[in-house]
Parts: sequence; C-alpha cells; structure tokens
Amino acid sequence: MKIAMIGTGYVGLVSGVCFSDFGHDVVCVDKDATKIDKLHRGEVPIYEPGLDTLMARNVEAGRLTFTLDLAEAIDGADAVFIAVGTPTRRGDGHADLRFVMAAAEEIARTAKDYIVIVTKSTVPVGTNRQVKEVVAKANPDLDFDVASNPEFLREGAAIEDFMKPDRVVVGVETDRAAGVMADIYRPLYLREFPIITTDLESAEMIKYAANAFLATKITFINEIAALCERTGADVKQVSKGMGMDNRIGNRFLHAGPGYGGSCFPKDTKALARIGQDNAVPMHITESVITVNEEVKRRMIDKVRDLCGGSFNGKTIAVLGVTFKPNTDDMRDAPSLTLVPALVGGGASVKATDPQGKHEGEALLPSVTWCADAYEAATDADVIVMLTEWNEFRALNLKRIASLMASARMADLRNMYEASDVGDAGFQSYVAVGRPGFGPGSH
Ligand code: NAD
Repeated sequence: MKIAMIGTGYVGLVSGVCFSDFGHDVVCVDKDATKIDKLHRGEVPIYEPGLDTLMARNVEAGRLTFTLDLAEAIDGADAVFIAVGTPTRRGDGHADLRFVMAAAEEIARTAKDYIVIVTKSTVPVGTNRQVKEVVAKANPDLDFDVASNPEFLREGAAIEDFMKPDRVVVGVETDRAAGVMADIYRPLYLREFPIITTDLESAEMIKYAANAFLATKITFINEIAALCERTGADVKQVSKGMGMDNRIGNRFLHAGPGYGGSCFPKDTKALARIGQDNAVPMHITESVITVNEEVKRRMIDKVRDLCGGSFNGKTIAVLGVTFKPNTDDMRDAPSLTLVPALVGGGASVKATDPQGKHEGEALLPSVTWCADAYEAATDADVIVMLTEWNEFRALNLKRIASLMASARMADLRNMYEASDVGDAGFQSYVAVGRPGFGPGSH
C-alpha cells in the first residue's frame, strides 16, 4: 500500500513511521519546513522513546520519506491520512477545524485517482461528512471515500500503543474504503488485535467519549482525594481498593495535580460544546472541566501553605514541567498553571526536566533551568514534585534535604511515603489526598 500522512506531529509521525514498519510505502508531509528539514537529516522533532531507531530503520529500507509537497505525497497513494492539530478554538471551546479543512481542500486540489481520505485527528461528530463535502465541492470529478480512524496512542508509549492497540476503530461508508483500511491494518488484524468497523459518526464519537471518560475517572479520584484530606483517609489506599474491582480497574485512578496534556483539556471542552450545540448538555463532562480547574487551584494553595502563606521571596524548586513523563510535550501541562502563580506571587522558580527544557524556556520565561533535581533543590525553600519522571522517583532524599534552605516537599504525584521523607530530614511534607506532616501540611 502507498500512504500519505499529513502532519508530522506526535500522532502523524508515529503513525507514519509505524505504517512504514508494517511494510507500507509512506510519505509524511508537513507544512513546517523546519520539521521536514530535521526529518531529512534523520532527526526526530519530538521526544518519543524508540521513535528515532524505528524511523531510521524504515528510512534506510526506503519505505519512509518526508516532503513539504502534498501533491508529491499523494501521487499514487491508496490513502491519505489527515493527522493535523485540532486545538481548542479561541473563545468558544469548539475544536478548531481550520487545519483539517485546509488539508481536505489541498487533497481535493492535488488528488487525481481514487483515494481514501482518512481523518486521524480527533474531530467532532459530523466532521468527516464535512470533509466529504469540501472535497466534492473543490474537485467534483475526484473518485474518493472518506474514513474516520481516530488515534488512541499515548505520548511516551506511542509506538507500543500503535503496534499493540487495545483496538483500532475504523468508520467507513463503503466496502471499497473498508477494504483499503483492512489492507492498511492487515498486520494488526493477522495478530488478532480487534479492529472495529463502524459508521463515520460512531467512530468520531468513540474518541471523544473515551477521552472524556478517562478525564472523568482522573477527576473523580482527584475529588475523592480532596475529601480524603479532610477526613484522614489515604487516597492511595482508596485507589488500590477501588481499582481491584474489575468493573472499575486501577488505571487512571491516581490522584494528582489535575489532568493536562494535548488531548483531555481540549477534547472535554469540545465534547461539552458538541453537547450544547445538539441541545444535549454533557453535564458530567462540564463538571469534570470545572472540578479539574479547582484541582489545579488547590495545588497552588498547597504550595502556598507550605511556604507559610505567601510565595513572596521564596525559592521554589519544580521537578518536571512536561504534562507527563517520557514526552517533551507541554501543552496544557500543570506547570503552566502552577509556575506562573508562584512567580506572580513573588517566588523565584528553579526547574528541571529531562526533556522539557526546550519547550519550557519559551513557555516559562522567568524560570532558572537546572541540570538535575539536586541543582534545583540547592538553597530552595520548597521542592515540588510535578511530573513523575523515573529519575525523580528514587532521589537521594537526605542529600536533597541537606541542600535546601528549608526542607519542605509538595509531592503532587504521591511519589514518596511521608515516613521516608521525614526520615530524610524534611520538616514538612504535603501530598495529594494523603496525610503529610509538619508546618503547612494541614
Ligand atoms: P501536533 O500539533 O503535534 O502536529 C500537527 C502537525 O500538523 C504539525 O506539525 C503541523 O505543522 C502539521 N500541519 C498542520 N496543517 C498542515 C497541513 N495543511 N499540511 C501539512 N501539515 C500540516 O498535533 P498532534 O499532537 O500530533 O495531534 C494531531 C491530532 O491527533 C489532534 O487532533 C489530536 O487531538 C489527535 N491526537 C493526539 C494524541 C496525542 O497524544 N498527541 C493522541 C491521540 C489523538
């Protein structure tokens, strides 16, 4: 099969590389010349574990190429995937479909032969039909089908998720398009990974429903965590006890600083808007959005309490700025709420992150960047555990405590045990939904 992939971001690049590893000929297109230049040099523009090796292997094999030219990419292609961004539209919470529709028009202008136009971007229900209209209007003679193929990969584990998915969802209208999609995903089908074929609308809805459900699960346990703090319960034990129930499951049940990232915030907002537009308010999703904002505010309060009521004049070490470990992605990361609040309150912030410095320097300009946790902790009044990178899980706490001006920890990912932190010489410790100790912990 020959595949064109529009967009070489977190989804497009991983999908393109993995499809080429399936044995297909893949041409990845982006309009960002810097990205395409990097890719031509063999550099991966994002941080995703394992992607560099897999990409190099398939480039070497001659199955994977990169271009700025869409016409070149779709010449002779069986399918073209749209994997461009669908950020929140400024002002109203809708998914911004500008990039998707621009890609659709470009495909219409350049395609010559039968092609399946596949939307991989997360898009509101009805978008694939809109794409069909846009293409048919721009090029009435073109023989084509549309397909919806939402992506469920997680950044940081994207290759594993793409190669061994829980399921692949394919929304189609014709047997011909279903056949092309089946050929593309044949390697997964042969290994018995479930492939669900649906209508266009259901495929689009599955993606939003899944993301809103996961955001709800995280937010539910964050709300329970707040109640645990007031009642003396330990949310880690509560999560464990709940998660052992097979009907609930233990994943996405870890209390923390509120969900962030490139998908949950924008997808919950978009689903809420889709509900409003269809006069079926998404009350649960709307509450999730509100509660998540409260959770983020509560984290700021926690750190302020630990500082003795004011950030003014304090030095605060922040460990982790990316929205989760194993990515350099900072879109809607909790750090983007917390750090400006600390700086706005008069604190000096020292931060460290294994992959986030490059993005972080642009997004958090007032921060002093440190090489590691120990440098960040030196002379700090409070240390905040914000992203659960592995290298922050087993710190030498005694050394950290000895380096700090006053040893206080806000563990917003519940990475440590209060007893270990106390034994290391910390004077105060706060976690999320679990008992802490020392001044500012109650
Ligand atoms: P991204 O912003 O990282 O990448 C989008 C890329 O598309 C950019 O490189 C941009 O330059 C390029 N682009 C935009 N318009 C173009 C055009 N007309 N021609 C060529 N290139 C164009 O976005 P992402 O994180 O990869 O997300 C893409 C979609 O996948 C979104 O809808 C997102 O919701 C969805 N999704 C993302 C994830 C994730 O973890 N990031 C997971 C599942 C689904």
